[in-house]
Amino acid sequence: MDVKQQILAPSILSADFTRLGEQIAECEAAGADWIHVDVMDGHFVPNLTMGPFIVEACRRATALPLDVHLMVESPERLLEAFARAGANHLTVHVEACPDIEATLQQIKSLGCQAGVTLNPDTPASALLPALPWVEVVLVLTVPPGYSGQAFMPEMVPKVAEVRRMLDACAFKHPVWLEVDGGISATTLPEVRRAGADAFVAAHAIFNHPQGIPAGIRVLRNILTDQQAR
Ligand code: ZN
Repeated sequence: MDVKQQILAPSILSADFTRLGEQIAECEAAGADWIHVDVMDGHFVPNLTMGPFIVEACRRATALPLDVHLMVESPERLLEAFARAGANHLTVHVEACPDIEATLQQIKSLGCQAGVTLNPDTPASALLPALPWVEVVLVLTVPPGYSGQAFMPEMVPKVAEVRRMLDACAFKHPVWLEVDGGISATTLPEVRRAGADAFVAAHAIFNHPQGIPAGIRVLRNILTDQQAR
């Protein structure tokens, strides 16, 4: 039986920011593995969300790894500030990095785990130059920019393609295949089957009608059931 850990990473994009610390603590108590922070700069994507200041606040609220997804132009300008704020993983977009290897090496030199991601319309092959340097590969399953968008089922074959690419690399260290966007009780099983092992969810956790612990429990039960098969 495959006993590899499955990661649940609540994205605070759907949190109630008047109670951010409390909601992160609820996520941690309910068994979340990472806290995902969606950073948008108003340039790489039209929306503008949060910066190192919020990451620093998250750091004070939890001991969980902070998984920071940088939807920003020229992320190399901001890496140090996010690392200093307490980020554990820094994930950059291939589209925003003309020299992806240099950017990923910079992340590692700051003591963080390096992640790479790509927009839905960027082919999986664009990840190839980055793969030797990464600990996290993130496949976006919605166009980046806003919370609550509908999952794109056409991204499932891309998750499977990235799974094959990662398996072919036969890394000696763990490399997570993370999915982000529209992940819910309905969509999680198919991305899990396609080979994802880390799952970002915002709306499905923070807006669950029975509360955050219930939102996490529903997703965790699906992962546990699938793993037992
Ligand atoms: Zn994200």
